[in-house]
Amino acid sequence: IQGLMAGKRGLIMGLANDKSIAWGIARALADQGAELAFSYQGEALRKRVEPLAAQLGSTLLAECDVGDEASMDALFDTLSQSWDSLDFVVHAIGFSDKDELRGRYVDTSHRNFVMTMDISVYSFTAIARRAAAMMPNGGSLLTLTYYGAERVMPHYNVMGVAKAALEASVRYMAEDLGKDGIRVNAISAGPIKTLAASGIGDFRYIMKWNELNSPLRRNVTQTDVGKSALYLLSDLGSGVTGETHHVDAGYHVVGMKAVDAPDI
Ligand code: NAD
Repeated sequence: IQGLMAGKRGLIMGLANDKSIAWGIARALADQGAELAFSYQGEALRKRVEPLAAQLGSTLLAECDVGDEASMDALFDTLSQSWDSLDFVVHAIGFSDKDELRGRYVDTSHRNFVMTMDISVYSFTAIARRAAAMMPNGGSLLTLTYYGAERVMPHYNVMGVAKAALEASVRYMAEDLGKDGIRVNAISAGPIKTLAASGIGDFRYIMKWNELNSPLRRNVTQTDVGKSALYLLSDLGSGVTGETHHVDAGYHVVGMKAVDAPDI
């Protein structure tokens, strides 16, 4: 199929470099004819994001720190100066102090708990509200989550608690915005080596474990996530909202892996 996103305009948030999950999603959307805008966190990232955006034919870029309400307002002001409406938003943003992405969850500080929830959970709600105001003809919103929301994963700690809240917020917003034809979904991606992931303790071990224990016996890539995002953001996903869709090589369905030749 070609041209699934033709005539559609959307905002990609969370592109840091060509390893970002946002990059896999942006490429899949641009391949299908989407017109993209990008937001980046702080001027230092602009020089990384600009050439990547240019590769996909996009020149609409704006700075946005989702910890700052005024910065989110400014982003949507910029967007509405160029576009009269918006069809989709990809929110590929999460953050926590990496000193607390190791050790025990129970030791999480109040300061980092609040900051992690603000940047990784509330920001999607704050962005969704602003985006919905630019979606008179309906639209599709997507965020990224991880299995650490559902089960205890090593070192994921406060981020797991935040992702559980993020997934709940997807369900509440699906109900709130559904009457306006706006769908809200999450992709629960398997572990992928990115800048954000490098802050998580023992990440190489986690990736190896997933590779050995997932039904597909491999890790997923940014391209795998991009293709599933295309489904949720295009008309192919027209009947889907409030969903957390796993793109994890099937890891989440396995209770216990069988050995090929059990000797016990
Ligand atoms: P990444 O480092 O490439 O992207 C994270 C992005 O968040 C960066 O672009 C960063 O600038 C942005 N960000 C952080 N704080 C921000 C703020 N205050 N304002 C604006 N932007 C801010 O890493 P990634 O792995 O591509 O992460 C994207 C999303 O995917 C995150 O939500 C992450 O939790 C999620 N995820 C990642 C994995 C994985 O294994 N990499 C698995 C499942 C889910």
